[in-house]
Amino acid sequence: MTVWDDLVGQRRVTEALRGAADGHGMSHAWLFTGPPGSGRSNAAVAFAAALECVHGPGPEAGCGECHECHTVLAGSHADVTMVRTEKLSIGVDEVRDLVRRSALSPAGRRSQVFIVEDADRLTEQACNALLKAIEEPTPRTVWMLCAPTVEDVLPTIRSRCRLVTLTTPTTQDVAAFLVRKHGVPESLASYAARASQGHIGRARALALDESTRNRRREVVSYPARLTSLGACMTAAANLAEVTKEEADQLTSELDAREKSDLDAAYGVVERGRRPREYSPALSALERGQRTRAKRRHLDMVDRGLMDLMSVYRDAIAVATGAPGALVNEEIRGDVETVARTSTPELNLQRIAAILAAREQMLEFNVPVALALESMMVALRAPDRARG
Ligand SMILES: [Zn+2]
Repeated sequence: MTVWDDLVGQRRVTEALRGAADGHGMSHAWLFTGPPGSGRSNAAVAFAAALECVHGPGPEAGCGECHECHTVLAGSHADVTMVRTEKLSIGVDEVRDLVRRSALSPAGRRSQVFIVEDADRLTEQACNALLKAIEEPTPRTVWMLCAPTVEDVLPTIRSRCRLVTLTTPTTQDVAAFLVRKHGVPESLASYAARASQGHIGRARALALDESTRNRRREVVSYPARLTSLGACMTAAANLAEVTKEEADQLTSELDAREKSDLDAAYGVVERGRRPREYSPALSALERGQRTRAKRRHLDMVDRGLMDLMSVYRDAIAVATGAPGALVNEEIRGDVETVARTSTPELNLQRIAAILAAREQMLEFNVPVALALESMMVALRAPDRARG
């Protein structure tokens, strides 16, 4: 297994990066773009491993076997720094610190690599601090920025980066990866690949976690059941609730760890005295955690909406006789019911209603429960269809 094997469905990207690790077209700044779940940061990490690999520079760089490759992939290599954020933005102080470190020599004999996972979240000041480092590169320092699209990064920065563009992997590529990497049975792998619509992390969760599959099954069962106002209200409440649970599961552990880190930093012990500065620091932490929890919840709702939308897209595909497998092949009966009791025009309107709800929540801060209720009502099967 080389480090390139996990870049799912990205043949051209892999060729370019392998070439660079072999000494062709190397750059000190890279910008990895691609849709969510296409594996931008995985590609950057694989490339970093190839740059540190004992076989590099050369065609074998990124062997996946040597100590360097292993430690980069495990996130513990001294010369590879991964900048991940749970916050909404990456501030100038954090970037200045990185820039200072980038001016030092690497610990090992190769390069030092800084991977910024969410370069689209750099504040303007942070961008300017980073720009200086990229304009006047330190020898043996490589910057790898990751963002959904090139438009998410300031032109002054992207013009100095070599661009790596990932695409949404095909269902076949994702399924093959799940079988090879996780030993998932083929039928399950192909279900997870279809249902994820090319999002690798989501496909992996669907393949490996039964509760994720159950939650999705629940969501895609709504369209065939939205035949009364009561059913719409129930569906809205359910979706709001399960997505909240899922989000809380993700954040509660992190919240607790941050709180205990803060307590340790201020020397706070159970029932002990609290330093004066502790209280404002705790409030700031809790504010940040509430923002993150809300964002996570919205992420989960968003994913539910994408799943819901896929059912109406499938219904349109059935009605228009489009060839190929449905995203929701396993509930083809339900999809056919939706197609029979509606028209492609109506289902396009429903998709528009889903997108409108999404916009209300993400852009206009409409409460989730409220936005989902009016959306579910708009998705309701019309009177004539109910007969
Ligand atoms: Zn290696």
